[in-house]
Amino acid sequence: LTAYWCELAWLGGEEVEAGVLVEVMGDRVSALTSRVAIPPAAASRLAGLTIPGLANAHSHAFQRALRGRAQNGAGSFWTWREQMYALADDLDPDRYLALARAAFGEMALAGVTLVGEFHYLHHGPGGVPYDDPNEMGTALVAAASAAGVRLTLIDACYLQGGIGRDPEGVQRRFCDRDADAWAARVDGLRDDDSVRIAAAIHSVRAVFPPGSRTVARWAGARERPLHAHVSEQPAENDACLAAYGRTPTQLLDEAGAISSRFTAVHATHLVEDDLHRLGAASATCCLCPTTERDLADGIGPARRLRAAGARLALGSDSNAFIDLLEEARAMELDERLATNLRGGHSAAQLMHAATSGGAESLGWPDAGRIAVGALADLAVVGLDGVRLAGTTPAGALAAIVFSGSAADVRHVMVGGRWIVRDAVHTSLDVSRELSEALSR
Ligand SMILES: [Zn+2]
Repeated sequence: LTAYWCELAWLGGEEVEAGVLVEVMGDRVSALTSRVAIPPAAASRLAGLTIPGLANAHSHAFQRALRGRAQNGAGSFWTWREQMYALADDLDPDRYLALARAAFGEMALAGVTLVGEFHYLHHGPGGVPYDDPNEMGTALVAAASAAGVRLTLIDACYLQGGIGRDPEGVQRRFCDRDADAWAARVDGLRDDDSVRIAAAIHSVRAVFPPGSRTVARWAGARERPLHAHVSEQPAENDACLAAYGRTPTQLLDEAGAISSRFTAVHATHLVEDDLHRLGAASATCCLCPTTERDLADGIGPARRLRAAGARLALGSDSNAFIDLLEEARAMELDERLATNLRGGHSAAQLMHAATSGGAESLGWPDAGRIAVGALADLAVVGLDGVRLAGTTPAGALAAIVFSGSAADVRHVMVGGRWIVRDAVHTSLDVSRELSEALSR
């Protein structure tokens, strides 16, 4: 049993609590006491604001290598995708592991304790499977383990290069022979204490309706989360409507994909019927605002999704930027620009999207909150740096959500063990990992 006395802690309400004693037994919180004015002698003192570990619900770790190389200049999502494809074509399991370990290390330093890695680069050059057909996925598991973060490995089915188009070039590395072959391969992956396996339909561009049905059935039979990229770009909607007479959300719903275990990633360009379907199912929508800005995607209708009954989560997606606090405030602030209205989401609601919302979407209902019985996954945000000094307890939650940054994260715990202390990773030299992985 270990005890921590938090100067301030956010336990899920609109306000933070002062003097919270968190007791940890094994990997879980065993007791919680608020308003303990004087730290008990046996408890370690945590200055600042303690929050649940952040959940990054949508990542492609390897795309970290595009940072600084693909932000600048003219173009669109589609020209960016050519740069991403060139990078993906160049990766082997060792490079994939090194990039992911470095990116997950950067996430750990930013307070992330759980990553949803949306994984589609499955096979070797030309689409030839490796001897172990899950060698690339296994590299991601090893990377998360080295970085000390929990992982939901979201294995994405990918069958065609676009609606009615054969895969070309590097897309062949993403593809399994058919959805049954995808399922057989994914059945070879195993959960452990820090890894859970989930499914994805890459998008309606990459998987046709019978394939989506197979993936949805696989996830339903195993009660696994199911994710899909949905309506990130108007061109995807146009192609889907032209081919099927339905929006991507309608098509996925008819394939049996949409349920409370479903997460629509991006959900940027939705019609009223899409909002209704996602809301009625209590599905999650994972917005990735820093990537959506970068790729000129648009602004997701987070307020209308919430009002319709959908749940919200956040992801760093392309990893051009790794800061879940920036993603959280962007969900609100980008909509302010689009609507001329403030306050669609409270600071607590934004923090829920960055923690419990993501954890639930990734199949970890026992993470993303500080509560008795929950996993002891915590992030401690310092309030004494230049951005946050002078913050009062009453304003602490709003201060970190609207003005804090990954650089304010001091300590990070996963399952009762520190993975970051005093802003330093306890087992990885993350800067060196990044420079070595990115120089190759
Ligand atoms: Zn994505």
